[in-house]
Amino acid sequence: MTQRDEVLPCLECGALPAGEETCTDRYHACMALELTDPGYGAVHHFTVPAYMLQHPSHLSTDGWRAMAQILHEFLIEGVSPARMRQLIRQQQKTQPKSFSMVKGEAAERPSFTWTQTIMAVRLDDPATYCTDVRTWAEAVHHDIQHVDLTGLNQR
Ligand SMILES: [Zn+2]
Repeated sequence: MTQRDEVLPCLECGALPAGEETCTDRYHACMALELTDPGYGAVHHFTVPAYMLQHPSHLSTDGWRAMAQILHEFLIEGVSPARMRQLIRQQQKTQPKSFSMVKGEAAERPSFTWTQTIMAVRLDDPATYCTDVRTWAEAVHHDIQHVDLTGLNQR
């Protein structure tokens, strides 16, 4: 057996790199497309929470839980990004700075294997892209239904 350090899976989401491309590279490629092409940008509100939930080192424990709730509201409740901004503004008025998405106790990596990662998202054209992002976000949402959010920090 030869050592193949270059194909180690991502420590957070478990995705294997595609050649030289890591999940971080793929995320940056997605963001570049979403922020420049409205056809791709249509699913921005799914891409960000799905990726962040699979990379919890970017978040605090409270931030991870809030992100899980945000994904749920976009995906299941069908809340629009404009409505979400409105809701967050309202919440900030009633509970100013109740917690930070990034500061505080760090979120830990859930111990299960994710069904799907960002590496399954094809960037070929907007229609394929939007379908793949939605499928991936739904898989993330499905996977975290098994996580006891209050027990996320238990080892
Ligand atoms: Zn990853």
